[in-house]
Amino acid sequence: MIEFRNVEKRYEDQNAGAALTDFNLTIKDGEFVFIIGDSGAGKSTILKLLMGEEKASKGMVMVDGVNVGRIRRSKLPYYRRHFGVIYQDFRLLKDYTIYENVAFAQRVVGANPISMKRRIPKMLEQLGLGEKAESLPTQLSGGEQQRAALARALVNGPLYLLADEPTGNLDPASSQEVMRLLEDINRSGATVIVVTHDVAMVDLMRKRVVALKDGQVIRDQQEGGYENA
Ligand code: ADP
Repeated sequence: MIEFRNVEKRYEDQNAGAALTDFNLTIKDGEFVFIIGDSGAGKSTILKLLMGEEKASKGMVMVDGVNVGRIRRSKLPYYRRHFGVIYQDFRLLKDYTIYENVAFAQRVVGANPISMKRRIPKMLEQLGLGEKAESLPTQLSGGEQQRAALARALVNGPLYLLADEPTGNLDPASSQEVMRLLEDINRSGATVIVVTHDVAMVDLMRKRVVALKDGQVIRDQQEGGYENA
């Protein structure tokens, strides 16, 4: 479970206002949540606080009963293994094959090479990339690159999948495909949090929608659509 309790986040060099103000949000295990809001509303700050990349100025961020702001720097890499993250710009290593990109994520956590040899092809197969294992990221379409990024995010079996504008660089068909995959991932048990501007997509999906404005929640609706704002 994720809980933001009365969180304020003010960046050191931030002039006016705060990125988040008296921010409260609870996300239960197994939920699928969209976080929407204009640029500057505080969406990325939520993800950074969750990952322990930034600390709350006030209040606390609790993940599975752990106060994230209190995790020691040396323990953060372990904590972060609970999360898989995908980004708008995919962030694949461009000089490495798709297989190597995924393998890299497994090596970082010290996975056993024999289980890697079994798991990675299976993961790529599941995401429709069985034929692309030896390709470089630049040889793939945007949709395929995002699926490769998903393979990398999922290969260590995270409890939480965070997606930061995952469809920002994709055409409508690839966007829908990525969303369908996120639904599958959610159905298989992971909590999915998607930060997006893509209100058409949000409408289509009929999931919980948390709308932010100036660092506060202005709407939180189950099966919400943007048109209900
Ligand atoms: P969003 O993801 O919704 O676009 P952000 O969480 O990135 O919003 O930003 C929220 C507010 O915090 C904005 O006013 C932004 O300028 C400010 N902000 C974000 N990161 C920093 C930073 N590293 N230093 C100073 N201000 C920041």
